[in-house]
Amino acid sequence: MTKPLLIGNWKMNGSLQLNQELLHRLIPKLQQLQKHIDIAVCPPSPYLFQVCDALACTGIVTGAQTVSEHASGAHTGEVSASMLSELKCRFVLVGHSERRLKYAESSAAVAAKFEAVQNAGMTPVLCVGETLEERESGQAAMVIEQQLQAVIDQVGLAGFEQAVVAYEPVWAIGTGEVAQASQIESVHQSIRAFLSSSAPSRKEDPSQRLRIVYGGSVNSSNAAEIFNLADVNGGLIGGASLKADEFIQISESLA
Ligand code: PEP
Repeated sequence: MTKPLLIGNWKMNGSLQLNQELLHRLIPKLQQLQKHIDIAVCPPSPYLFQVCDALACTGIVTGAQTVSEHASGAHTGEVSASMLSELKCRFVLVGHSERRLKYAESSAAVAAKFEAVQNAGMTPVLCVGETLEERESGQAAMVIEQQLQAVIDQVGLAGFEQAVVAYEPVWAIGTGEVAQASQIESVHQSIRAFLSSSAPSRKEDPSQRLRIVYGGSVNSSNAAEIFNLADVNGGLIGGASLKADEFIQISESLA
């Protein structure tokens, strides 16, 4: 297994000034942890240039929050994978629940974005997770399997060789409500088991090498417990990644 991974998702927050202040506080501390963990931050797209520039040569990498599935052309407002790659983005979030739910991104569109990201030489972070309604009606596992299957249908199982999966229960994102340890462990295990069962042979099974990170109201108080769970290989951090002290403490819990 490669190093654990911590990703900060800034969502639609920040300004040139605030980003500079945040990075100024984060960089020296996070650089000390790099021997133990990989770290990425995902700013809003207008700030990618600023953040990529500030992080160059630090070992901390930049990711984007979304991408177009199209290569170029008449897609006003969209950003292509090759543009993100040119800026030296290393990761791209695809299928974040805020995109799936607020912008009606289908699993098929998410899978096409996943492929576009890989074709441009970057690593997709496939976000999967169930709504509260789906969990309460016993459909969580099925929903997540469908989200994974859409990617297998698009790129094949081998697509998971160069990818990260983020389990983010929708009801835990930005709500302060964290999934229970047993729920997180069980979903992470079932993601690995599902991918493994889809492989025709052990050699073609990407599941054991795959990093599966957890996201949903992770903060400095609960991070250590979550990161110690079996099958959790890191975190995707939203709100808490905007506070330097919080993000540093979360990083220290993973290192
Ligand atoms: C997220 O946006 O991916 C996320 C996990 O947000 P938060 O940590 O704020 O719940």
